[in-house]
Amino acid sequence: MEAFFAKYQAKLESNSFILPNHMDCRVWGGARYASGYGQIRVAWPLGTFITRKHEKVHRLAWMCFHKQIAPHYDAFDQVLHVSHLCHNRLCIHPTHLVLETKHINEERKHCKLQRLCVGTHNPLCIF
Ligand SMILES: [Zn+2]
Ligand SMILES: [Zn+2]
Repeated sequence: MEAFFAKYQAKLESNSFILPNHMDCRVWGGARYASGYGQIRVAWPLGTFITRKHEKVHRLAWMCFHKQIAPHYDAFDQVLHVSHLCHNRLCIHPTHLVLETKHINEERKHCKLQRLCVGTHNPLCIF
């Protein structure tokens, strides 16, 4: 898996750039889904049990940084998301991404709307 993560880390870096904003978001410059998230074609290693060939770029960025495949469920069968603390869908900055429940990710939508973190989750959103 080490070689897999290194290969895709290099692809992520070569297809992205640092946005000159106060948060230093690293923005994906490649393909996108209609939803606005970055899209990348992935040759998954055998044994990962992932059959999809494409992945959201920010999920892959989380995986390359943490050197593990992002699980879709936690031990209590709750759905897990890789969330953006910065609310920038194209951002792949590793410290702006967190693996957490779908429930918490949805809470963050309120923060995005009011451009202020509601403060009920940890880590807090970045603005
Ligand atoms: Zn960001
Ligand atoms: Zn928040």
